Amino acid sequence: MKSKISVILIIALAVVGVTLNARLPRIAQALDSQALDSAVITSTVTPRNVILFIGDGMGPEQVRAAGMYQNGLEGTLVMESFPYSSTMTTYSADHDITDSAASGTAIATGHKVNNGVVSVALPGDGHELETLLERFHKHCKRAGLVTTTYATHATPATFGAHETSRNYLDNIAYDYLYQTRPDVLFGGGANGLYPDSATAAGYAVVLNRAEMHAIRPPLTVPVSGQFGTTHLPYEYDYFIGADPGYNTLPHLSEMVTTALAILETSPDGFFLMVEGGRIDHAGHANDIARNIFEVLEFDRAIEIAYTWAISRTDTLIIVTADHETGGLTVIANNGAGNLPTVTWSTTGHTATPVPVYAWGVNAELAPQVTDNTHIHQLALAGFTDPVSCVPVAARVVDFRDRTRQIGQLIVVMVVLGASLHTLRERRAHSAQRQKQFPWRQL
Ligand SMILES: [Zn+2]
Repeated sequence: MKSKISVILIIALAVVGVTLNARLPRIAQALDSQALDSAVITSTVTPRNVILFIGDGMGPEQVRAAGMYQNGLEGTLVMESFPYSSTMTTYSADHDITDSAASGTAIATGHKVNNGVVSVALPGDGHELETLLERFHKHCKRAGLVTTTYATHATPATFGAHETSRNYLDNIAYDYLYQTRPDVLFGGGANGLYPDSATAAGYAVVLNRAEMHAIRPPLTVPVSGQFGTTHLPYEYDYFIGADPGYNTLPHLSEMVTTALAILETSPDGFFLMVEGGRIDHAGHANDIARNIFEVLEFDRAIEIAYTWAISRTDTLIIVTADHETGGLTVIANNGAGNLPTVTWSTTGHTATPVPVYAWGVNAELAPQVTDNTHIHQLALAGFTDPVSCVPVAARVVDFRDRTRQIGQLIVVMVVLGASLHTLRERRAHSAQRQKQFPWRQL
């Protein structure tokens, strides 16, 4: 009777424990002061792979201008051929006009933060906000960050780091290497991230196009591409042959080709964030030629992903921007190969809503995106509560541990068996001797 009661008690406790464990994260989420927008994009279908393109500073006029230069006609870029689209607001928690850190955080975490903040709750208690990269890692997906800025710049940082300021480049590099560990991390080098530190953290390091092209997936270690010592060159400067040294550095579309080749070997799918990071810089400079050439290379990178995904039915591609830069307006289309006539209203960012394009699994939900926080929801639509994925490296350790445990068990059993055998033999021997010499005390 007593043992029956204890069994029932243990089962009851286990049920309570499991229920609590499942409920607590949801309760914590509901109490979060920086909670997600009330409108939630949901789906019953889950993409295996999510590829997110962010054109830094790419407003609707930047897209128009690039189409006119390329094809003599607006609406003709690859991203514009995607079946679903929308426009979204980009304001931050403390400004109508966002910076890349606040908008990147909204996209990466679904939470509005103050300008300059990298994926921590400010305003708020400063706790770390889970990013898409971290969330997809929990779903056993490998994750990559690819950009044309240096790799510790604001936009990639919002996916792979948690810092109160985008300026803490050393800390951002440390977060990449020791906390979030993107499986692919490609961008300009230096600025907090160096070959020695990445190697010490277990990364393979490639420094130029040739080394990047020599990568042969599948890889057993994460890879850090550190190309040059600052941002990658402007596409327009490759075009005019401004510096022959640029030819040793990869284009964005080439980095995406390699990133996909590495990530497609993931057993459980992947997440890839690709930033066209220098559209913004050309916008700050009010430089329409460099602006257009950056948008066109960004579109080539999208075409690479689109071509990779077109024969599949398991991938979502989202293309968007973090904000507009320059207050660009196209005045006249001057035909293919000629720069359109444009005006700029500022050398800073603007609050102009930015475009969203989507293709693939759940792409039909893209029209529901009206704010940058919704991109986070669209990327995660169909994913249920995080499964706790054991990373591949840890799985190897687990396997080794188990092998060791089995080994230890065998040793224990052998020793135990041997001891029992000896004991039995001794007893038999004693009994024998007792029979032979009954008078002796054995
Ligand atoms: Zn900017």
